[in-house]
Amino acid sequence: MHRPPIKFCKQCGSAVVYRIPDDGDTKLRAVCPACHTIHYENPLNVVGTVPCWGDKVLLCKRNIEPRFGLWTLPAGFMELNETTAEGAARETVEEAGAQFVMQELFTLVNVARVGQVHLFYRAQLTSDQFDPGTETIEARLFLESEIPWEEIAFRTTRVTLEQFFADRSKGEFGMHHIDV
Ligand SMILES: [Zn+2]
Repeated sequence: MHRPPIKFCKQCGSAVVYRIPDDGDTKLRAVCPACHTIHYENPLNVVGTVPCWGDKVLLCKRNIEPRFGLWTLPAGFMELNETTAEGAARETVEEAGAQFVMQELFTLVNVARVGQVHLFYRAQLTSDQFDPGTETIEARLFLESEIPWEEIAFRTTRVTLEQFFADRSKGEFGMHHIDV
């Protein structure tokens, strides 16, 4: 999931070089030797949900790389011009075809080494019928005892599920900041 380095200038198409700019910056940046544009790279947001139906949680089996065939909570990269909650809801519709009511923000997971921040909202399903999109092989509900922990696609999904079941056993859902 590491982001590939920038190769070409977005302004003029020349090949960039990675160097520390001369403006007092302290980090390596992709700098264009032709037009001198500095390309700043910043973290990306991944937004998703923990959809619940009674005692069960909805997981999606991935039909795409990376982690093809493994299970994940519905989530994906946030788009421009949407809020985090709108993005989480969109991903849940796209990947699971689920019907639900959005609830509170549940986890904020920093994945600093790959420059990502993952945000998961709880969601209350209003139907147990799903219509998964092309990115999903299967969308299905799992009891806690049925969660395929050895086949979970991402650590952010794993820690969010662990926190969800821990909170549920206490009878109270909080909002959690986690660094992985
Ligand atoms: Zn350029």
